[in-house]
Amino acid sequence: MQMQFHRKLPIPQDVKKDFPLTDHMVQVRAKRDESIRAVFDGRSDKFILVIGPCSADQKEPVLEYISRLRRVEEQVSDKIIIIPRIYTNKPRTTGQGYKGMLHQPDPTAKPDMYKGIVAIRDIHLAALRDYDFSCADEMLYPENHRYLSDLLAYVAVGARSVENQQHRLTASGVGVPVGMKNPTGGDLSVMMNSIVAAQSSHTFIYRGWEVTSEGNAYAHAILRGYIDYAGRSVSNYHYEDLLRVQALYDQSNLINPSVLVDTNHNNSGKNYLEQIRIAKDIVHSRNQNSDIKRLVKGLMIESYIEDGAQGYGENVFGKSITDPCLGWEKTERLILDIAEKL
Ligand code: PEP
Ligand code: MN
Repeated sequence: MQMQFHRKLPIPQDVKKDFPLTDHMVQVRAKRDESIRAVFDGRSDKFILVIGPCSADQKEPVLEYISRLRRVEEQVSDKIIIIPRIYTNKPRTTGQGYKGMLHQPDPTAKPDMYKGIVAIRDIHLAALRDYDFSCADEMLYPENHRYLSDLLAYVAVGARSVENQQHRLTASGVGVPVGMKNPTGGDLSVMMNSIVAAQSSHTFIYRGWEVTSEGNAYAHAILRGYIDYAGRSVSNYHYEDLLRVQALYDQSNLINPSVLVDTNHNNSGKNYLEQIRIAKDIVHSRNQNSDIKRLVKGLMIESYIEDGAQGYGENVFGKSITDPCLGWEKTERLILDIAEKL
């Protein structure tokens, strides 16, 4: 046998029933969904920050971090909508070893997929229940999306997934804005094609069902920099890069043309402190050009309690175990500075 089938897992509908939202949580999320949609379709000029650790490996530090975001959002909510990143299935770059909370709710124990499903639902439920935040997650595994589909505010399709047909089809049936990242090789046409696919209606197989999606009118681009043929990091957040994406949107029939810029990854070359300068550069570009201002709806920032990243087993509270992140004090300063310059 090439795979051992251990046990049949409960379907999303059953897990949602076992771990439900209260009416109040449903209302808070609906209100946030509406204000986020208004940004993407141009009715609101608020700026979106999808912000948080690269991976949400443990509940306690992530919720501590989110409680801090709650206090900052209250100071800037006339200008900024904060969407915390709770990335629950982030693997290491090579795909080996740790694969995130979904696979290893206890990073020191063996993978347990049922406990993992419950754990990722539990952390998203806590963020909404205790801090009024519906959050962002990356859709690494399209078939798992519906375990969280009643909770999420925002979904990203990663640079390594954006060319994949099942991700594109599923994105077309996701009920919240989906950001399609440029691929690691940088080809913007791949990203634009994935947005076309995600904005279109499709009939396909999903979780053993024949389904039809409506098309996601809020599917949009995320620029995250890229890697050239020699393995060098190249950024794509500059003024000219943003105009190039505007031109690609102009040539297309896409609706709600929108870009989020990821300030880390190959835009910073994972020099996480550069995120401060990059974020300000993008805000400056928006202030120089009204097309860019309309196009760039926000930023994606990797941030956590502690600066940087730690190695396996170091166990520093609130320090990233995957990509290096901006620590809390710098993050708070940056959010306030961005709000001032918008
Ligand atoms: C991330 O957002 O942490 C990430 C790894 O993104 P990408 O898919 O752009 O590499
Ligand atoms: Mn990352």
